[in-house]
Amino acid sequence: MEKVLVHICCAPDALYFLERLRKEYPNKELIGFFYDPNIHPYEEYLLRLEETKRTCRKLGIKLIEGEYDVEDWLVKVKGLEREPERGERCSVCFDFRLERSAKLAKELGCDTMTTTLLMSPKKSFNQLKESGEKVSHKYGVNFLAVDYRKGGGTQEMFRLTKENQIYQQDYCGCIHGLVNQKGENSLWDMVSFGGRPAGSKEETLFIKRIRTFCEGEGLGTQEIEFPFLSWRVLEGGLWVKKEPIPSLVAPYSQSIRGKVRADVERVVGNTLYLNKQFVRIKLVEELKDLPLESIPPTTNPTFLVPESYREKLLKSRVDAVLKTAFREAVSRVLIIGSLQAKNLLGIPADTLQDHRGVSEDFVKELIEEHKKDILTQKTAILLLGAHFVGKLGQKFFEEISGRSPEVLIPQNVR
Ligand code: SF4
Repeated sequence: MEKVLVHICCAPDALYFLERLRKEYPNKELIGFFYDPNIHPYEEYLLRLEETKRTCRKLGIKLIEGEYDVEDWLVKVKGLEREPERGERCSVCFDFRLERSAKLAKELGCDTMTTTLLMSPKKSFNQLKESGEKVSHKYGVNFLAVDYRKGGGTQEMFRLTKENQIYQQDYCGCIHGLVNQKGENSLWDMVSFGGRPAGSKEETLFIKRIRTFCEGEGLGTQEIEFPFLSWRVLEGGLWVKKEPIPSLVAPYSQSIRGKVRADVERVVGNTLYLNKQFVRIKLVEELKDLPLESIPPTTNPTFLVPESYREKLLKSRVDAVLKTAFREAVSRVLIIGSLQAKNLLGIPADTLQDHRGVSEDFVKELIEEHKKDILTQKTAILLLGAHFVGKLGQKFFEEISGRSPEVLIPQNVR
């Protein structure tokens, strides 16, 4: 059987494209190749890869994962950072990805190659065709330039993406395109905060991985998204006489303007109030992040500091810096099993700021343990997004279903 290598850029573009290819070329074997070192940050790359794996498995298509040689890609586009989309940087980017694909096509004995980039509504068909033909001919491979966007193909692609609850990115992929498109807001996409903060790429990836696992186990799944106001620390710290004081920032704290140098003006129990910009310091026995029971109505810049630093803070002036950001975000609840199940078990999908949370293995073991009951509709498991910031996933689920899950919090996050 003749083989066709299909370079895959992302799952939304791949699903409809691969289905159409298969219908039009029933006698050819399709091999997927995910080769996209242009995608930044790495969490976004993993997210798109995960959804591509899910899509290929659904279609029964073999998938090969390429290298994430992001440094080579960055070197290739050096000097073209300011180019607009569809400009010279994109031509270089296509050549880079498609040349590697053509090389693999040759090695695998494929006589033809193509790319799901041809499905992307924002790309220039002619620019892609030119690039694909140029690089594939070098390796003696044909380039199949099919335009499946026409005749309602794009609409069908969006419909299938929605129906299959596939992650839909909101930028092409690279840091340069992202900065050009989102300006200052691109920081939110690029900075990794560690752990799996509510509504982050890391939280989404975790949920998607568990979903792929469940599907492999033959368990039904459904995702429900919900919006919320998210919050992140961009920069922060406390110092006394230039010595850094170990601290955490309380969730939903507001920013401090510039750098503040202030004295403690009031002490109420374990809380020290500084005399500038409403800064407060809560002294705690052990420095660890605490789950928020609900989003606080007041949002003073608030630091958590070990009790052992009380005297130091009271004796000298305190320097404080805090830059935080608030933004509309989306999180999700993954329902594993049937909503009609008698028992509903909930598990948090996000982590606390100090990265404590449930591990992938913990969730998988729990699913394995309850697999029989999930299949017989006795139990359903809910993976709850944004749990540690006011139990938002749980509250959202309760609102739309009228049912309350029993939430399991593992020992390490109590
Ligand atoms: S905008 Fe997209 S196609 Fe263009 S260089 Fe960036 S990742 Fe590549």
